[in-house]
Amino acid sequence: MMQKWEFSLKYYQDSSAALDTALKEIPAYQSWRDFDPGVLLSVDTRYQAMPVLTKKDIREYFPLGFVSPGVNIQHALDSGEISFVSTSGTTDDKVTNIWNQKWWDASERASWKLNTYAARLATGEHPEAILVNPLNVGIASDNSDLPLENRRLARFLYLSERTNYTAWTAEHMDRMIRELAVFRPVILEANPSLLARLCRYISASGQTVFQPGLIVLTYENPTNLHYRQIRKVFTSPTASSYGTTETGYVFMQCEAGKFHQNTQFCRVDFQPLKKEHGGPSLGRILVTPFHNEWYHLLRFDVGDLVRVEETGKCSCGRHEGIILAATEGRCVNATLTCAGRLVTSRELDHNLSALEEIDEYKLEQTSPGTYELHLASRTPDKRELSESAASVLKGLYGREAKIAVIHEEMIAPEVSGKYRLSKTLFPLKIEDYLEKG
Ligand SMILES: [Zn+2]
Repeated sequence: MMQKWEFSLKYYQDSSAALDTALKEIPAYQSWRDFDPGVLLSVDTRYQAMPVLTKKDIREYFPLGFVSPGVNIQHALDSGEISFVSTSGTTDDKVTNIWNQKWWDASERASWKLNTYAARLATGEHPEAILVNPLNVGIASDNSDLPLENRRLARFLYLSERTNYTAWTAEHMDRMIRELAVFRPVILEANPSLLARLCRYISASGQTVFQPGLIVLTYENPTNLHYRQIRKVFTSPTASSYGTTETGYVFMQCEAGKFHQNTQFCRVDFQPLKKEHGGPSLGRILVTPFHNEWYHLLRFDVGDLVRVEETGKCSCGRHEGIILAATEGRCVNATLTCAGRLVTSRELDHNLSALEEIDEYKLEQTSPGTYELHLASRTPDKRELSESAASVLKGLYGREAKIAVIHEEMIAPEVSGKYRLSKTLFPLKIEDYLEKG
């Protein structure tokens, strides 16, 4: 494997400590001891020999399996030091985690150093507007409008209380524009799909909007379409922040556009895909958070694909940790060409975003050779758009691909409140595509 990355001595010490503690004390890892090739070998070799922790394992061992046997979890729950939080989603996706706010905030603060704008603007006291689905974070209210003061929490303002953005009215979006002008957030944190929706409205209605110092995109992988729509309206710099509820902040996009690992707070193990599926630069990541005494996770499968920066360098000058050229989307969003090659959601997006007329899309691969593309577009000539889209998809998936294009008013998110812009309707196991280690 490419060993171009630089890690500090502290990183190796933290990696060893996380592994040794888990194997010695944490109940969920008792059966992992047999995999340990021994402390005489390098910590990287020891990690490589270990299994992978899945959401299924978390459900099985939660909560006592992930804390030291000596600690009093009820006491910490009672004092508010920790809480249990459930993520939304389907049964396979849904998981309850131990939430440690203090640790989460520290992990976020460390990630700010990886982007010059964030490092300068984020003080921990700065006003921040948040445009995310209240199913993920914030305060939900679908039947009545909540006044601004009911959507304030500490230094945050939640711009929408609606759980379904397809129900946003012009008045609802006008309110967001007004509140941004009044609240003047230093940072706007947003789901890219929701922000893109607001931006399409701002462009179409010919309005202008307050420009925050930085826009941080979270919760979803931003697509080219999102960026195109956001940049029509905002001149603010953008940074995509990558993390999960389980692992905290894992990668942060720097001002030069690449992603840097938050090495102070997590270890990342990269597993390349087979060459014929885009490896060795493309692969999945397993994350081991550091210093969270209330939740010992080891090699957690976050379910995402990333592309490592082949040069191992970034023009911003930051050199510690894994550097990514891009995040490539969720493993469950991968599709297959007719010849069986794996296509990430980013690769699909690069192809489809060549079509200027598309506002939103969703691709469902119904069987190995058939694809259903749902499109939302304001172009009057739907027939021509259908033909161009089918031609783009045949270029990507193969001439023999059977493609149906369906036009929609809007594309709705999944029950989790997040979008899945592509998926197969048949099982696809990412393990089958990994290079055997
Ligand atoms: Zn950089």
